[in-house]
Amino acid sequence: MTDLTRLTAAATAERIASGEVSAVQVAEAHLARIDAVDEKVHAFLHVDREGALAQARAVDAKRAAGEELGPLAGVPLALKDIFTTVGVPTTVGSKILEGWIPPYDATLTRRLKEAGVVILGKTNMDEFAMGSSTENSAYGPTGNPWDLTRIPGGSGGGSSAALASFQAPLAIGTDTGGSIRQPAAVTGTVGVKPTYGAVSRYGMVAFSSSLDQGGPCARTVLDTALLHEVIAGHDPLDSTSIDAPVPPVVAAARAGDVKGMRIGVVKEFAGEGYQAGVMQRFTESVELLRELGAEIVEVSCPSFEYALAAYYLIAPSECSSNLARFDGLRYGLRAGDDGTRSAEEVTALTREAGFGPEVKRRVILGTYALSSGYYDAYYGSAQKVRTLITQDFQRAFGDVDVLVSPTTPTTAFPIGERADDPMAMYLADLCTIPSNLAGNAAMSLPCGLAPEDGLPVGLQIIAPAMADDRLYRVGAAVEAAFTARWGHPLLEEAPTL
Ligand code: GLN
Repeated sequence: MTDLTRLTAAATAERIASGEVSAVQVAEAHLARIDAVDEKVHAFLHVDREGALAQARAVDAKRAAGEELGPLAGVPLALKDIFTTVGVPTTVGSKILEGWIPPYDATLTRRLKEAGVVILGKTNMDEFAMGSSTENSAYGPTGNPWDLTRIPGGSGGGSSAALASFQAPLAIGTDTGGSIRQPAAVTGTVGVKPTYGAVSRYGMVAFSSSLDQGGPCARTVLDTALLHEVIAGHDPLDSTSIDAPVPPVVAAARAGDVKGMRIGVVKEFAGEGYQAGVMQRFTESVELLRELGAEIVEVSCPSFEYALAAYYLIAPSECSSNLARFDGLRYGLRAGDDGTRSAEEVTALTREAGFGPEVKRRVILGTYALSSGYYDAYYGSAQKVRTLITQDFQRAFGDVDVLVSPTTPTTAFPIGERADDPMAMYLADLCTIPSNLAGNAAMSLPCGLAPEDGLPVGLQIIAPAMADDRLYRVGAAVEAAFTARWGHPLLEEAPTL
């Protein structure tokens, strides 16, 4: 019998719909895979065995009753532990929410459940989504299935590692500065940051509200598109949610064609700090796009040089405000409440005990950047840079349909290598951050293994806001051509664990 954990989500859904396998069999196969490998990988913080099997049984009952099933009904998914799940712990990778059981579902969680998607559990992440390696998790790091001594990316390293180790065919991430795309790049999987406002933030624990965006992750472009359509759409509970139809991403993924498209190569995403093997695979991808019939042009986005600096003022500023709610009084951890201390003292002790070093660093940085006297110099300037970056994109998209770049400057680095060097860690998001600042859509998909270390390289495709379908049209064409060239999907070369 086929190993159910190696199938795509699309193929799994088809087999369930036709009755060839039951949703319960599929869920059990994945739970068994988790049992077999997750001790080594540590993708999950919490496995919801009972919840997963109950949801699978419900899908099987629906099918038995002759009801129509949605396109992903019965397909297992790994959910980043930043989305609230009623009755199931939600920690955001932080001690401050250890043991907290949310009383409500995030809109995204609710949509997954309504679509019959089987949520296997909650995945590991950098605390409050701050990081690029998952080493900032209060619950220990996650290993990259290609090499367990290396990082699986971050902040959503649990989700990317779950996909790459065949523990789930679908996963959810959130991308504030690259946390969907960078983990996808370094694990040889696919991840999309949709247009800002496309996926509801209701019930998604806030880090930097003007940048945060939930999105789909999978092993193929089509699977990512199918998940995108399930989770995207207007939500009256999120005031920044876009009230417009979701772009036709599944149709675009099925079409997969770049003929006649104008594709821009961002000149600034190259040079010092870019690994030779990453640039080699990227250059080959651009050649491939040309062979597939796209017109390639060079594009300059001069303000991108300041994106990282602007991001590390805006994101910490918003985080210092958002994280003020973790005061030890309302939910989660409470430290030092022995009846002798004031509320202020309890709050201070709770935050001291509950937040890790990176979160503290950002709260302090953000509080400073927003303080009177410094506000204009730091936060105000960063917002101006943000406008310049948006204008660079607008100018570029006046000339080309999509932009392409490497997703990350390097392949997966060893666990520990950048843990004590925040600046080196921040550089992992050099190519991804501009799209968060501008709010447009972007995808990472595998484009080969770097010759020097045999690790996956990601190709980033960037589209204008509300043109997410272009990512899938281009991504599917690239994926089909590469798969034909390699003779199999890239992940088949990963160790079996
Ligand atoms: N690595 C970036 C940061 O640390 C981005 C994180 C994210 O996208 N959530 O802020």
